[in-house]
Amino acid sequence: MSYQKNDLADIEITDMGQDGEGIGHADGYALFVKDAVIGDVARVRLTKVKKNYAYARLEKVLTPSPFRVKEVCPCARACGGCQLQALSYERQLRYKEEKVRSHLVRIGGFSEEKVTRVSETIVGMENPFRYRNKAQYPIGYDKEGRPAAGFYAGRTHSIIPCADCLLGPAENKKIAEAFLSYMEEAGVSAYSEETGEGLVRHLMIRTGFASGEILVCVVANGERLPKEERLIERLLAPDLSTSATDDVTGAAETDLSSGVPAPRHIVGICLNCNETRGNVILGEETRTLWGRGYMEDELALVVPAEPTDSAESMQSTVPAEEPFAPTGERARFRISPQSFYQVNPAQTERLYGLALQYANLTNKETVIDLYCGIGTISLFLAKRAAKVYGVEVVPEAIRDARENARANGIDNVEFLTGKAEEILPALKERGVHADVIVVDPPRKGCDETCLQTMLAMEPARIVYISCDSATLARDLRILCDGGYELKRLRPVDQFGQTVHVETVCLLSKPRC
Ligand code: SAH
Repeated sequence: MSYQKNDLADIEITDMGQDGEGIGHADGYALFVKDAVIGDVARVRLTKVKKNYAYARLEKVLTPSPFRVKEVCPCARACGGCQLQALSYERQLRYKEEKVRSHLVRIGGFSEEKVTRVSETIVGMENPFRYRNKAQYPIGYDKEGRPAAGFYAGRTHSIIPCADCLLGPAENKKIAEAFLSYMEEAGVSAYSEETGEGLVRHLMIRTGFASGEILVCVVANGERLPKEERLIERLLAPDLSTSATDDVTGAAETDLSSGVPAPRHIVGICLNCNETRGNVILGEETRTLWGRGYMEDELALVVPAEPTDSAESMQSTVPAEEPFAPTGERARFRISPQSFYQVNPAQTERLYGLALQYANLTNKETVIDLYCGIGTISLFLAKRAAKVYGVEVVPEAIRDARENARANGIDNVEFLTGKAEEILPALKERGVHADVIVVDPPRKGCDETCLQTMLAMEPARIVYISCDSATLARDLRILCDGGYELKRLRPVDQFGQTVHVETVCLLSKPRC
């Protein structure tokens, strides 16, 4: 039979797509169903019908999946940021392992056996809520026309208020509310993406989970805010110490505690000016209104306590129980509003620990750290290498990186501003030899010139850290066609409740 828009179908959800949507079949059609969970038997309504597939809306769960859990955030479905919140955390981890595997096979052209041989069990989070150290609230108006912080409703420009995002710290709500009351009091308008008018675009809050430092950055369509001194007063007024009641907004059985030992306090309030149209959040100019123009945080290296058994590979997911232990190496970083900093510090410590293990340094090596941000990985590498070059395109991040090297007493690292695909060929031209190259590119992966230059430089090892397994698979294929062998691969869950997954890989050059 052929389906039409608005038809109902009862189906079993047997798979999950790239965006976390449930996939089921009816009469030869593949149906993509948002909010359905693998294992559900569901009644769905078709919303868009194509030749062999259709999109459908979940009307009713007829028999819930054994993997279905109650969403703890009341905004989960409307917001769309937590695509997997209705899936048990254990099953989320399996979904992510399968996602990486399928990209390596389908996009990278690696065999199933090869992927099984090199893959190690995903590193799961101990608590998959309240882990994010950066919040970026769009600011707009609620239905009553009052200033609101939340998220965009569907593909629209109107805001659904939601100041307590359960992925971030509970204090963010107090800061956001204090900011909104300043807006009302001072009569400050919110920016409209449709018209390009209005002043306040975003409220960004960054928290150092180890240091307790908070940096607040208001992004505005202009260089000044009315009554800036009132803004400062308002933001500094709330008591930011979290209480038990702040932390249990949600289901009682879910641990929503911040897990942060350090008492939190605001160390800086900044104003970033972004007068451009479009969806880039930060503009180029930032002015400090109060305190410091940056916050500081600390990271420690954390590694698996036992050598991981890769033969077991993707079989089980008991990651939270896997013993990880600190190596004793720590570093302190300053982070400016424009600089990138990993959003999940607990998992970052494990990710970096694994990357350092894969790099296998003995104090003699020259290492190049491409896409180095504020130099977090570079500084840990430098403690174990002879010389490190860090390359990063954002000048503010390089400024932070240099300051971080100085403050941590590290003098064997050189930071270079520019695109990896331009600086790496220049380093090669200068005659720089690399024993190890570490890359940690943004989602779009490495530029082809960058990959070709890496191949031409013939480092003994390449450590590839990726936040997008599709571009990772594409780039690994190029590196392996160029003579490298994929030796180890480990997904690390940096983004619980979402479909995103981080992966760290080791490639080496077989000796001829
Ligand atoms: N390794 C760092 C940063 C990783 S995020 C960390 O773990 O914190 C990726 C970084 O690459 C960002 O800082 C971004 O500004 C930078 N970047 C993006 N495109 C780049 C390019 N073409 N060349 C160099 N750096 C780039």
